[in-house]
Amino acid sequence: MSISKKLHGRSDSKCELCTSMIDLTVYQVPLTPKGIVDDSILICSTCTNQIENSETMDANHWRCLNDSMWSEITAVQVIAWRMLTRLRAEGWPQDLLDMLYFDEETLAWAQATGEGVEQDENKIVHRDVNGVELQSGDSVVLIKDLPVKGSSMIAKRGTAVRRISVDHDNAEYIEGKVDGIQIVIITKYVKKL
Ligand SMILES: [Zn+2]
Repeated sequence: MSISKKLHGRSDSKCELCTSMIDLTVYQVPLTPKGIVDDSILICSTCTNQIENSETMDANHWRCLNDSMWSEITAVQVIAWRMLTRLRAEGWPQDLLDMLYFDEETLAWAQATGEGVEQDENKIVHRDVNGVELQSGDSVVLIKDLPVKGSSMIAKRGTAVRRISVDHDNAEYIEGKVDGIQIVIITKYVKKL
């Protein structure tokens, strides 16, 4: 049985976060530890977009977590925890978080993307589209086609960029080589490999 079929069966073809029935896709929870088989959830495009673009967050949409955080599916709980943590300045998400108890393994999984980790305010931290911290030497993959400034070249979506270096003055920039040319890449358009 395909993963998509299995998840449609499990969720009754509803978004496992907000119960929408529109535009459902399989979402693989980033940074799932090895050994965990159920690493995917079925979610709608609204949820996916907001998980991947923290700038477009609509806090009210995530009131749905009130119910879905009690899901029996660990991968759903993990995403609920990450989104509540991202929104906790709103107040109510913190109240929900306070009710959510995880075993050590699940908590480590939830925290793996660095969501909610207190940062030294002066420290520049580079994060990919999922909020995963990037460091010099990491490899990333481009998640969209990117025109390269000052040339006619387009760095294609899906291109792997190995051994990036981070810009120590700007948290949004990393550099890496594509087709032998050193280019500047914006962190929100990459995913850590
Ligand atoms: Zn949804």
